[in-house]
Amino acid sequence: MSRTLSIAIAGAGIGGLAAAAFLARQGHRVMLFDQFEAAGPVGSGLMLQETGLVILDQLGLRGPAEALGAPIERLWGISAETGRAVLDVRYAALRSGLRGIGIQRTALFSLLHDAAVSSGARVVTGTKITAANAVNGTLVFAEGGAQGPFDLVLDALGVRSPLSSAPVNKLPYGALWATLPWPEEGPFDRSALEQRYEAARKMAGVMPSGCPHEGAGQSLTYFWSIRGDAHAEFRAAPLVHWKDAARALWPETAVLVDQITDHDQLTFARYRHRTHWPAAVGRLIHVGDSWHAASPQLGQGANMALLDAFALARAVQSCSEIEDIAAMYVRQRALHVRLFQLMTWAFTPVYQSDSEILPWLRDRLAAPLSKLWPAPPLLAALVSGALGSPLARLGLQSQR
Ligand SMILES: Cc1cc2nc3c(=O)[nH]c(=O)nc-3n(C[C@H](O)[C@H](O)[C@H](O)COP(=O)(O)OP(=O)(O)OC[C@H]3O[C@@H](n4cnc5c(N)ncnc54)[C@H](O)[C@@H]3O)c2cc1C
Repeated sequence: MSRTLSIAIAGAGIGGLAAAAFLARQGHRVMLFDQFEAAGPVGSGLMLQETGLVILDQLGLRGPAEALGAPIERLWGISAETGRAVLDVRYAALRSGLRGIGIQRTALFSLLHDAAVSSGARVVTGTKITAANAVNGTLVFAEGGAQGPFDLVLDALGVRSPLSSAPVNKLPYGALWATLPWPEEGPFDRSALEQRYEAARKMAGVMPSGCPHEGAGQSLTYFWSIRGDAHAEFRAAPLVHWKDAARALWPETAVLVDQITDHDQLTFARYRHRTHWPAAVGRLIHVGDSWHAASPQLGQGANMALLDAFALARAVQSCSEIEDIAAMYVRQRALHVRLFQLMTWAFTPVYQSDSEILPWLRDRLAAPLSKLWPAPPLLAALVSGALGSPLARLGLQSQR
């Protein structure tokens, strides 16, 4: 594409900011709209996989993200009932040196936001978007008024995007989460995401999540699985009820649970699943969770939003017509999106559901089988996002 496009990006989250940085660097006029009044992310710590890190590298952000994040070499979970390891994924089983990064959302947001702004993208805050016109490329705001026409409109509004018409399937479970200082005396592994389960009804997790900015102390993100329809009950009950249950499931987390003195310290995230097809109509293109939202069970959503952003920028650089840009974008990403939407849909109930059979099978069959070749490298490929070769489809390769 040799001409300069005017591009509106709805949503300054992970996908929107990354797309803004890539497209502004190509010389396009980029405007980013978000409902927040002051730029800032909302949400828990998250895991960046090699897929997302390679995309960050294209923006010169891999080094800074690794410096702020915490390296994660292993995911492992133990059944609190049997004491048996029922999840044990080591990244090195796929390739030596491969690992993920646990990072605070605020750290990732700052890196991407600065990259977008310094590349020339304009961020417009306090604008709630209600609709878009895919034919003439305009955005409509809740406060009244519209902006456009734009050559391209990206919907990066996340899982609740009003621009995405695919129905959102609310999953029965979500999680309470809190970011806490890393306890120096604690028993947790600094290079592992650890979990404890009781069947699939109860789950607690501890993920190292680095520091929000240079010089700050190390942190972890604590997760507690909870049914969506039990959240009101959790809020109404004395906090000590939850604390007792959390300590009973995983006694070593007492050092974390003791730091929580108010319900508000635990933020609730309801998990949702949806895939919006087609991913592009006219001038409107969906990026990230607005295209494909899933539970964070496999830790891929942010990484997929980054892959989408790069794929779109690559299509804009390679094609001159809007319909060709859209077609190339979807071609590069569709297989990986379908694969991970399916995998996440299949794996989520094994760890978060009321099923008795699935966790029984998980503990007795899947856990021992997962130790036999070729399961270890396959599981590492699944968790690192490598299944379906998403980087090769973008002309990129893993750096580890
Ligand atoms: C508890 C939890 C843990 C997770 N852990 C991981 C993990 O470990 N690894 C991983 O890869 N992924 C994880 N995810 C998923 C990941 O957070 C998402 O997939 C990712 O944030 C999607 O990026 P996005 O850019 O599509 O949307 P978002 O990052 O959600 O950004 C959407 C933006 O749009 C704005 N917006 C929304 N509606 C409007 C509107 N109407 N008008 C204007 N602005 C609007 C919002 O303010 C926001 O800035 C997790 C998710 C949750 C909930």
